This record gives sequence, structure tokens and C-alpha cells, in this order.
Amino acid sequence: MKLDEIHAVIATLREEYKGWQTPAVTIVAQCNGSPYKVLISCLISLRTKDEVTALASARIFARAQTPEEMVTLTVDEISHLIYPAGFYRTKAGQIAVLSLKLVEHYHGAVPDDIDKLLQFKGVGRKTANLVMTLGFGKPGICVDIHVHRICNRLGYVSTKNPDETERVLRNQLPPEYWIMINDLLVAFGQNHCHPVSPRCSNCKLADICNKVGVKASR
Ligand code: SF4
Repeated sequence: MKLDEIHAVIATLREEYKGWQTPAVTIVAQCNGSPYKVLISCLISLRTKDEVTALASARIFARAQTPEEMVTLTVDEISHLIYPAGFYRTKAGQIAVLSLKLVEHYHGAVPDDIDKLLQFKGVGRKTANLVMTLGFGKPGICVDIHVHRICNRLGYVSTKNPDETERVLRNQLPPEYWIMINDLLVAFGQNHCHPVSPRCSNCKLADICNKVGVKASR
């Protein structure tokens, strides 16, 4: 895929995005979301439907918006607040441990350093990048399963896993698109280019897309 084609892809997706539902973690970031709230919401969102993430985030932030407030809750209380998010008990434990570590070692502030973020249990590259981009507005490319799948389908990358996709994108994606690519492709993946049976017949990217690996479509 040539450079002018990726410019066209982004321009098209930005236009289409206006008609799609905004991803839950993005809404948290847009509504005065601190890096801490982006971090917690992103942890809740892993393997969880967006509607569930949105409601679970609202419930937990109604009780605790900072690490100092979160450490006053028990793991059971956190579990109850984020239920039925996927792996809610494990995530509740991670949220409790992570919040205590922030209070004890970082004066309650989330570090704006991807390597430090990766040291927290439960925080992978996707979450760390999202905290950097949505939480701090700093450069990063958050590659989740949607970004990985769609970049490969388009033929923009040819990679085997999200970490490899992130490495390739860091080399070839124009920097002005780094922060927005996750938001655009998550919304596109949830609303149009679905994991199974994407809507290729009425896709605005059909002329550019190589449909790599697409076996069945609508
Ligand atoms: Fe996805 Fe199909 Fe559109 Fe390609 S043409 S971006 S596979 S929906």
C-alpha cells in the first residue's frame, strides 16, 4: 500500500467515524479522563464488550477516581463494581495491586513512561500505549486485535501478532496518525470490518483494500 493510499484510508475513516459509536475507553478519556481512569477503563475493557466496559467504568469511577480512593475499596467491592467484565475477579485484583503501587511508589500519579507502565501486572503493550496516547496525549501506537486485523486485511502490514504490527507501524505509519489509528480502527472493526464476515460489499475502502485473509464477507 502506497503512502497516498494510507492518507486516503485515514481520511475516509475519519469521515465514517462520525456515524459510529465511540469506543468506551475513548469516551472515558474525552470526559475529563485522567491517565489513571484511562488505565483502569482499559484494563476493564480487555476481552469485554464495549457496552459492558462503559457501564463498569461508570460504576467504578462513581466510587473511586484516583488510586488513593481505589485503595479504600476491597477486591470484592471492585469485583462487584466491574462485574460482568471478562475475568472480573482477576482484573479486580490487578486494579487493587496497581493502585496500591501507584500510591506507594509514584505519589498516586500514573507514570508517563511506557516501560514503567509495562511493569504493572496486567498491563500489556496495548494498555500502555493507550494510556500514553489517550491519557497523556503523547506519541504511541496502540495495536489491539482490531488494528492488527484490519492493517493486515488492507495489506498495509503483513504480520503475525499485534506486537509485530506495532513495530512495523512505528516504522511506516506517518506520525500524525499514531494516536488516532487505534480509535479509528477499533470503531471500524466494531461497526463495519468485523472479525467474521466483514461488510466488504458496501465498504468505502473496497477499492484500496487487498482483503488479505478474508474468506467470507457480506
Ligand atoms: Fe474490511 Fe472488507 Fe472494507 Fe477491506 S473491504 S476494509 S476487509 S470491510
